[in-house]
Amino acid sequence: MRIRFLGTGTSHGVPVLGCSCPVCSSTDPRDTRYRSSALVTGDGGERILLDAGPEFRLQALAAHLDALDALLVTHAHADHVHGIDDVRPLTRGRPLPVYASGLDASELRHRFSYVFSAGQAGGGKPRLELLDLDGPDGTGSAPRQVSVGSLVVRPVPLSHGGRRVLGYRLDGLAYATDCSSVPDSSKAMLRGLDLLVLGALRLRPHPTHLSVDEALALALELRPARLLLTHICHDLSHERLQSYCDDAGLPFPAGPAYDGLELEV
Ligand SMILES: [Zn+2]
Ligand SMILES: [Zn+2]
Ligand SMILES: [Zn+2]
Repeated sequence: MRIRFLGTGTSHGVPVLGCSCPVCSSTDPRDTRYRSSALVTGDGGERILLDAGPEFRLQALAAHLDALDALLVTHAHADHVHGIDDVRPLTRGRPLPVYASGLDASELRHRFSYVFSAGQAGGGKPRLELLDLDGPDGTGSAPRQVSVGSLVVRPVPLSHGGRRVLGYRLDGLAYATDCSSVPDSSKAMLRGLDLLVLGALRLRPHPTHLSVDEALALALELRPARLLLTHICHDLSHERLQSYCDDAGLPFPAGPAYDGLELEV
């Protein structure tokens, strides 16, 4: 399985519009961060998109993406789903399965109502099959696992401030952006990982996101073989965040991901 980071920035992206801070003005390409998203390619060639943010089209062009087999939605905040219309050419002539929690499925149905209602036919809207991972009882604590080709996808409930969102585990990889805490029942699903991808906004605390220290402490508890951070704001350059992680002396490699980073898991 391979993961490619399509975007590693927080909701504003980096550079932030109108900002001339050192990170927003940086010439290091790793300091340009599109909104957070990733592409996982299974050993059977399955292409699974994790979130479709506002830059999805540009991210797909950069990744030479020509088809998709599934979209996993972590939650329906704008920075994670507002590129969903652009999956249109990538659905291989059939509806694209879109997996989301009950709450997020209903928000998507409302926000993108033209997709799920009659009209605007003839290729003018994406063909999506919206699948509620919580099933009929809404926001139960144990959403069901699904398969995409040979890959088993296990949703992992997380807390994003007061909101329940989903991370996803695919074999030895887990992707958990936008969270401020992880329930114990979910921690059990995040052990024994080859790669943990964790959101870490900045050094200062935030009510709905893990700070870098909180993310590193959580990783220390979960003990993945490798940690990569995502959903990073303009407070931190790639270089500074990498040195901060190095100085933490963790017993596994840890550091920020960056847009375009691709690795085998
Ligand atoms: Zn976000
Ligand atoms: Zn800035
Ligand atoms: Zn969010």
